[in-house]
Amino acid sequence: MSEAEFAVSKELIKQLIDGTIDAERLLKMDRKDKARFFNYIAVLQERVAWSDQILLRLGDKLYIVINDQRQRVAKCECGHELGDYRKNWKLACKIRTRRTIEEMSQVYDPAPAVPEPGWQEIREFFCPSCASQLAVEVVAPGYPIVFEMLPDLDKFYGEYLGAPLPDSAPDWYEDQTHAVTRQWAEKSA
Ligand SMILES: [Zn+2]
Repeated sequence: MSEAEFAVSKELIKQLIDGTIDAERLLKMDRKDKARFFNYIAVLQERVAWSDQILLRLGDKLYIVINDQRQRVAKCECGHELGDYRKNWKLACKIRTRRTIEEMSQVYDPAPAVPEPGWQEIREFFCPSCASQLAVEVVAPGYPIVFEMLPDLDKFYGEYLGAPLPDSAPDWYEDQTHAVTRQWAEKSA
């Protein structure tokens, strides 16, 4: 760490999350400070109403946590669980699809920026419990629901942070989304 840089305190992390940090301090921050990640998690943990251990934040209101059954699940800020984090959590959401120019114009401005009906559609993903909008994707009709991120948590905690998770196992890093869609197909058969 150079003299101009400094380790990132919890107070600074709070300013980062709230967007109130000043530009000069932001630029001088030591970007390789690994304690920063744990401070970040500690600040997030103080801000949620539940006590499951946060492993990673996926979005403004979305986390991967270890729940009370010792499972790694995607969890909304409101406490609603969206299932095993290896299965695309979007499949556990309420989904609104906007397909027509009228539907898409309600959320796009100015008009030239509106996606072209027939070629693209807007999908909005909502938490089934608190109705928070957790993600939006604009894709071609029929395109599979995008699995934005399957993090290799064991590699990240073990190799990068040097703090292996107690339940680390090779099959945590495995996309299992197909198990959900297979179940749907079996139910409808
Ligand atoms: Zn929620």
